[in-house]
Amino acid sequence: MVVKSAHLPFPGETVLGGQFFSFAGGKGANQAVAAAKLGGEVIFLAKVGNDALGKTAVEGFKKEGIDVSHIITDPKSHSGVALIMVENSGENCISVASGANGKFTKSDINDASELIGKADFVLVQLEIPLEAVNALIDKAFAVNVPVILNPAPAQPLSDEQISKLFIITPNETEAELLTGVKVVDEASAAKAAKILREKGAKLVIITLGAKGAFLLSDQIEILIPSIPVNAVDTTAAGDTFNGALTVALAEGMEIKDAIRFANQAAAISVTRMGAQSSQPYRSEIEPF
Ligand code: ADP
Repeated sequence: MVVKSAHLPFPGETVLGGQFFSFAGGKGANQAVAAAKLGGEVIFLAKVGNDALGKTAVEGFKKEGIDVSHIITDPKSHSGVALIMVENSGENCISVASGANGKFTKSDINDASELIGKADFVLVQLEIPLEAVNALIDKAFAVNVPVILNPAPAQPLSDEQISKLFIITPNETEAELLTGVKVVDEASAAKAAKILREKGAKLVIITLGAKGAFLLSDQIEILIPSIPVNAVDTTAAGDTFNGALTVALAEGMEIKDAIRFANQAAAISVTRMGAQSSQPYRSEIEPF
């Protein structure tokens, strides 16, 4: 649920004159929808509450062609909700009530073992408990399915888990939390990315908002610039980037092209209000 106003309120401040919008969201959901809209074949593992918001969300996933047969309804929780404030510049701040997302367990991952083994890629975020994320990373790693972790919202991760990742995709804030390096430009991104590589992630991609995305592998170190656009709402920019990146890699694009594709998809999403509703379909990418 989003309120757009002239500026973000400071603690204790009330800002009048905003506009209200309600959108389906959540990092996992946004990334699943981004991937599906761009042509990916998506099976979404998730948990919703037995409420209207959960039902609407699942209907929305179905409409985009996502396989929802493994989404669990938890009768004892509300569906995850995010309250988002966004100012005219596009800057936002977000408060999340996790509800059913917080009830996603290790045993839910175990139940999906077979499915995980069949995937081309596993894409995961940190809006479910770390215990479940770790179980997923372990499971995929054991059967050589590459994992892309978008470590958002920011929280500490063990070196052991990082060492099992094919790609880690922090933004500036998340990269700082994981490495202690304040990421503000290409040089600091390179420094943070090196630390994450030393922890064992095969590829590190640090997204830098309007500046683009920094890639570090054993052979490549490059800043791939974003596409200049008029940003109106950066909600879900990172989610769109991650969904798009995964689709591109699953199609066999090489990593730099996959990042360019993800930059394009994310740039389109910031030119429109909303989360899933702002994400582009495949047909919008090429002309863009
Ligand atoms: P998050 O939404 O997770 O904070 P970023 O702000 O780093 O992530 O944005 C993710 C990606 O979205 C960037 O790497 C870039 O490709 C794209 N992006 C974000 N903001 C803009 C912008 N103002 N103009 C163009 N592209 C943008």
